[in-house]
Amino acid sequence: MSLPSTIAIDGPAASGKSTLAKRLADHLNYLYFDTGVMYRAVTWLALSRQVSINDEERITRFAEEAKIDVRPPSKGDGRAYDVLVDGEDVTWAIRRPEVDDNVSVVAAYAGVRRALSAQQRRIGLRGRVVMVGRDIGTVVLPEADLKLYLDASVEERARRRYDECLARGEEVSFDAVLTAMKRRDEIDSTRDVAPLRPAKDAVILNSDELSIEQVVERALSYVQGDC
Ligand code: C5P
Repeated sequence: MSLPSTIAIDGPAASGKSTLAKRLADHLNYLYFDTGVMYRAVTWLALSRQVSINDEERITRFAEEAKIDVRPPSKGDGRAYDVLVDGEDVTWAIRRPEVDDNVSVVAAYAGVRRALSAQQRRIGLRGRVVMVGRDIGTVVLPEADLKLYLDASVEERARRRYDECLARGEEVSFDAVLTAMKRRDEIDSTRDVAPLRPAKDAVILNSDELSIEQVVERALSYVQGDC
């Protein structure tokens, strides 16, 4: 049996998708592509140009016109890749709390999704890719060879995000992280276009009770066709 060439991984924020995808991609020598980066890049553009987050028309134009590049890491500062927007390195800027707080609003705009998912689909169709997001198995690559949906309780995900913030030296309260996470979940899963939900044929993995090693092990058994 041949290995799946297109692997879609979806799930809510901080469910462990990126870690799992990176590990699978390294193991298989595939491209790891995190589509959340593109929504974050457009959000960063709007905020840095002081465009209102409610200005759907201008933000859609950013999504259509901005040149968003994801490249191998140029620095050893913990980054998995470089993210460039029109040539500017925004790898860490797109992880700031103000981007977290606004990205779901931007990602709910139909024109933004149209522009970004078309680019993602082109990349995905080349194959040998592990693509991560919210709608990869349902919209971007519905024909993906393997679809995984990674889930975990909102409390557990907020705890993980809180620990990451502390490790980066950011001052946040757990309650603020939890509230922001709930809000993002709500917007992502109730929007009209491409809401967060598992594809009908996705394998659902819940990581509440599993270590990342166990999640990777289970995912690999699906990749290898053992299940
Ligand atoms: O995965 P990450 O947390 O970086 O994604 C940031 C946001 O981008 C998500 O909360 C969601 O609103 C949006 N997103 C999306 N569709 C994707 C990837 C991300 O709507 N395929």
